[in-house]
Amino acid sequence: MATDPYAWLEQSLTTIRKADWYRSVQTINGTPGATVLLGGREVINFASNDYLGLAGDQRLIKAGVAATQEFGTGSTGSRLLSGHRELHRQLESAIASLKQTEDAIVFSSGYLANLGAIAALVGKRDLILSDQYNHSSLKNGAILSGAAVIEYPHCNVTALRNQLIENRQNYRRCLILTDSVFSMDGDLCPLPELLDLADEFSCMLLVDEAHATGVLGKTGAGCVEHFGCTGKQLIQIGTLSKALGSLGGYVAGSATLIDFLRNRAPTWIYTTALSPADTAAALAAIEIVQQEPQRRTQLWANVDYLKKLMQAQVAELKLLPSASPILCFQLPSAAAALAVGKSLQEAGIFAPAIRPPTVPTSRIRISAMATHQATHIDQLVAALGEFVIRNQGI
Ligand code: PMP
Repeated sequence: MATDPYAWLEQSLTTIRKADWYRSVQTINGTPGATVLLGGREVINFASNDYLGLAGDQRLIKAGVAATQEFGTGSTGSRLLSGHRELHRQLESAIASLKQTEDAIVFSSGYLANLGAIAALVGKRDLILSDQYNHSSLKNGAILSGAAVIEYPHCNVTALRNQLIENRQNYRRCLILTDSVFSMDGDLCPLPELLDLADEFSCMLLVDEAHATGVLGKTGAGCVEHFGCTGKQLIQIGTLSKALGSLGGYVAGSATLIDFLRNRAPTWIYTTALSPADTAAALAAIEIVQQEPQRRTQLWANVDYLKKLMQAQVAELKLLPSASPILCFQLPSAAAALAVGKSLQEAGIFAPAIRPPTVPTSRIRISAMATHQATHIDQLVAALGEFVIRNQGI
């Protein structure tokens, strides 16, 4: 008798549950903000990537509604067929102007931007060198491309150099991949050193600015601006879904790069164009990023306050090195991370546990927002303090 070809699914879920790696969703209601309704209860939100608090901003909402009324809900086709609107080009120009690049191209998500760009830029005869802590979209883009992939130890420029010495000459093109802000740690890539290596070994460098855009750099252009590398030859990727409060992704770079991607990136050519509402909301957000630097100033003030308070009151919870609004502390097991996440939630704080396989070691990830009040941060640290007292030794 034939065996059930789907029986392995339940077995696999059982293994995931046993490891405390099982994932499920929690429903958020209402407009996103520094506090949200989670399971019908108001909690302080330290789980969001909405760093500037724009996802609930009336100006973005109005822009999205107006675009929907004018252009409809769906874009009806890919950009090369029926999906292209003037709004898309306006958004691409705004991104290029924020990033100080010649051009930009908008994808339907940051994930798709990474998959499409990487798959277009390298193939079977090429080499990818990728930071071991890179986001899933970079890792899967590397696999999709068919290039040989070597991971280098996290932010380790010496190891990367040695890998380049050993391997570079065996491949046609070489692409170095890195997050700029590492999404589950909060630290920054050594961008100037990576650029030097890319120069020396004739490699392309792709940097994922998902968590840096709107957050880092004087004008909010990201890590590239933060490190004074604006104008250098490199491929910048990002998302419209974090500090920009909308949905979608982009690649910014030279006009030739963008023209090439319009002709070769499969996740741009063969997918429906970004919706009018998302496009218009992102466009409104970029204007705010450029015109309201005080949001960034407030965000960084909140990050400083949170770090200092944690160091003063819950020094036991050692924060991983971070230079961004993402602050994480490690826990000894997935079960311990889940327990901390649950007890925080009971205390009215939403700061989720992040577990393998997303990260190598379980942790609580806290992300600060410009719209957090000092009292929100006080309550988070008080809840962490109570947890430490109750669980000495964790
Ligand atoms: N890159 C990084 C570093 C990310 O953290 C994310 C989102 N978690 C993405 C890319 C994907 O972006 P999007 O959510 O727009 O698909």
